[in-house]
Amino acid sequence: MTSTIKRLAILGSTGSIGQQTLEVVRAFPHRFRVIGLAAGKNIDLLARQVSEFRPRLVYFQDGKSGQGLPDVNCEFLPPEGIASHPQVDTVIIATSGKSGLLPLVAAVKSGKEIALANKESLVAAGKIITGEARLSKARILPLDSEHSAIWQCLNGENQKPARLVLTASGGPFLHYSKARLSKVTIEQALKHPSWQMGRKVTIDSATLMNKGLEVIEAHWLFDMPFESINVLIHPQSIVHSLVEFIDGSVKAQLGYPDMRLPIQYALSYPERLPNPNLPRLNWDIMGNLTFGQADLDAFPCLRLAIEAGKKGGTYPAVLCAADEIAVDLFLSRRIKFTDIACLVEQVLGEHQTVACPTLDEIIAADTWAREMVSRFVSGDSLC
Ligand code: MG
Repeated sequence: MTSTIKRLAILGSTGSIGQQTLEVVRAFPHRFRVIGLAAGKNIDLLARQVSEFRPRLVYFQDGKSGQGLPDVNCEFLPPEGIASHPQVDTVIIATSGKSGLLPLVAAVKSGKEIALANKESLVAAGKIITGEARLSKARILPLDSEHSAIWQCLNGENQKPARLVLTASGGPFLHYSKARLSKVTIEQALKHPSWQMGRKVTIDSATLMNKGLEVIEAHWLFDMPFESINVLIHPQSIVHSLVEFIDGSVKAQLGYPDMRLPIQYALSYPERLPNPNLPRLNWDIMGNLTFGQADLDAFPCLRLAIEAGKKGGTYPAVLCAADEIAVDLFLSRRIKFTDIACLVEQVLGEHQTVACPTLDEIIAADTWAREMVSRFVSGDSLC
């Protein structure tokens, strides 16, 4: 048992994961102290968070000074500076998309404990990040519910598992045909049946790209070959993932879909803390738990992601970048839902991969992929 206060920096503090992390901090003020907060767009919420938590380090993307923030004595640093600051014990990386990559690299190089929600950074640069983490002894703890589930199942085991099974809710369009998917609206896509999440990950969940990214994330986090990572559709989102061991025994982690549980587990690990705000499973009202296979024909993003992960090189970075822009285009009503997969596939098809890329080559591939998506869209060469 340790009773020392853990000093946290939360990057993406105004987003969904950031806000839920602060809820966990609020429940355990004697265990966690907020040292750093970084946000992108929501200055009003950041100002309220700064007033409440009094961090020493602050970053706001749209302004380097304290303009719009309460009159407190903060140092303004870029996210990389906050992520590697000597006063920070644990960095929570809860930004969306590409913005997590450089802060993650900075935190890893500084040997920090990192609670990672930004899967794209690990997908794009997993080899570099896990290599650096081995050198610096940085620890990457998953916040993603599936990976937290696998981590919880693996704790106490000292042999490599035989297989990881990631569960997927299937999103709002489970069982939809391709034709029906081409007509779905943003509003429908943003209505996830079981999880409350940010907009990018909600759309990624609807296309199943999110699950594909999670397969690549699991490959790096748990050092497992792609052939030993499976996806299982489980619409109720109660079983968060499963691990099969060499003797055939299977362990699973269950709970209501509430991100505060994996967040709290990563922050308090190896302890568990009693939090009355977290919902308990009620077996009296629990219905059937069902499992099935994903439809790779209707949801090609899952297949594209796994293929990109297996090919490696700069393919996963291109996959992430193309998807990020395609999702933005869908959210701004410029392309159809089914165009997301189509654009990602076209950009991957044009890509000349770099084997064992450096960080600069990964960033260059990312930039190239973003330009290619824009070119395909303006050239009207959608499917
Ligand atoms: Mg997840």
